[in-house]
Amino acid sequence: MSILDTNIAKADGYLARFREGGVMNHIDGLSTPALSGRTLATLSPVDGTTLADVANSGAEDIDRATAAAKAAFPAWSRTPGAERRKILIKVAEAIEARAEEIAFTECMDTGQAIRFMSKAAIRGAANFRYYADQAPYAEDGEVTRTPTQMNTTSRRPIGPVGVITPWNTPFMLSTWKIAPALAAGCTVVHKPAEFSPMTAKLLVEIAEEAGLPPGVLNVVNGLGETAGKRLTEHPDIKAIAFVGESRTGSMIMAQGAPSLKRVHFELGGKNPVIVFDDADLERAVDAATFMIYSLNGERCTSSSRLLVQDSIYEEFTAQVAEVAKRIKVGHPLDPNTIVGPLIHPVHEEKVLSYFDTARDEGATIAAGGTKLGEAGCYVAPTLFTNATNDMAIAQEEIFGPVLTAIPFKDEAEALSLANDVDYGLSAYLWTSDLDRAIRMTDALEAGMMWVNSENIRHLPTPFGGVKSSGIGRDGGDWSFDFYMETVNVSFPRAHHKVPKLGG
Ligand code: NAD
Repeated sequence: MSILDTNIAKADGYLARFREGGVMNHIDGLSTPALSGRTLATLSPVDGTTLADVANSGAEDIDRATAAAKAAFPAWSRTPGAERRKILIKVAEAIEARAEEIAFTECMDTGQAIRFMSKAAIRGAANFRYYADQAPYAEDGEVTRTPTQMNTTSRRPIGPVGVITPWNTPFMLSTWKIAPALAAGCTVVHKPAEFSPMTAKLLVEIAEEAGLPPGVLNVVNGLGETAGKRLTEHPDIKAIAFVGESRTGSMIMAQGAPSLKRVHFELGGKNPVIVFDDADLERAVDAATFMIYSLNGERCTSSSRLLVQDSIYEEFTAQVAEVAKRIKVGHPLDPNTIVGPLIHPVHEEKVLSYFDTARDEGATIAAGGTKLGEAGCYVAPTLFTNATNDMAIAQEEIFGPVLTAIPFKDEAEALSLANDVDYGLSAYLWTSDLDRAIRMTDALEAGMMWVNSENIRHLPTPFGGVKSSGIGRDGGDWSFDFYMETVNVSFPRAHHKVPKLGG
């Protein structure tokens, strides 16, 4: 039996429970179908067959989950930080113990390759560990004194919060939002993406088995326009942490406005990788191709616009095209696969439509540009060259293994091309000139920049975008600022003179 066959058999075992029992909601510690009894299907990206039926929830399910989160809030928010820490460390350990199940389930539900997904559970556990360790200090603030007053500033958890996540790397992304919310003392209603709901169910089960009290984390599946919408409108949900498309973020902001919802948005990107002719070109080729062709290019921080100095443009793009052509596309559970199938036929259609757009706009397809095979959502790793920055392929987020290359003359032009886009999530800069790196990073419109490196995440640093790429930051203490209210209490230091009115 090949490794792939063994992995498929194992995945089949892990998925059997969902195939037989569906992907239920999880409310107040109990697995439960949608109250209406309605379901929707989650499809296999490998062959389009139905993997499982998923609860297709409505407003009434969100209301139940919110009631559970509200009831659980007083006890959880008053649980000492050190106690919350212990429970969340146990959650991290339990995630690690089931890392293979999480990874295999995620691969089959999303189409992401196992070589990348094998780390998803480990990274999810790291998120829990990191925020568990911060939990005892979450309430801390500062004391400031004037001659008459002593001010003590502290934080308290904001209340039950909603977490809405996308389909691309659902487990890791969910832990990014849920771990700090729980560490801060909030309770959570999580609405996972309808295309990849399975690992959210695993997470809540794992967390409760590890000791998280019922009602502290609840999961409601369903469509964005029904379940998701109600969550953003519910008056008892105090904040929405959302990861997804920029236009969905706008909708959520409008939906949440009547209840004055606090929002945190991690949205789309069209991130430049800028390569100057003085860069280490071999490393730059490796990083640029890694950042667009790993994780199927379904990655918010993917380097989807390649800006290359004209003196090295031909040579550099030829090397990128070579890499793209050599990349193995295949079954997500094959350890040799780099690019797996895209998540869903709807998304595949969107990505394929950009191949036509590229031809219509007059770009050259230097690699890929085709669908692969009959069954499943497989597309070839693609490079567009001879593009200009005004083309749709240079402006719009394609969210697949598709790279658009544009030449530039000098620093000024590189900067202007990099910033001439609605998005501003991340940017990657390759140069050996330190002064230039400082000038460029001072002026690039992006929330996160990496110099001479691919994206390497460090949890204490801020993660988030500017412009249409988001509002707010994850990571470090920034997550607590979102999930907590900062309050100030002022004490008199002495019997100061209080103004006396009326005589
Ligand atoms: P999406 O916006 O279509 O959906 C995301 C979630 O929002 C889903 O759970 C969906 O059901 C829900 N939703 C949809 N409409 C809603 C509504 N009206 N009210 C409430 N909820 C609603 O995004 P997607 O296609 O699942 O994910 C891909 C997008 O996510 C890309 O744009 C990508 O860049 C972005 N993303 C951003 C980051 C980041 O950190 N910046 C990370 C990963 C993905």
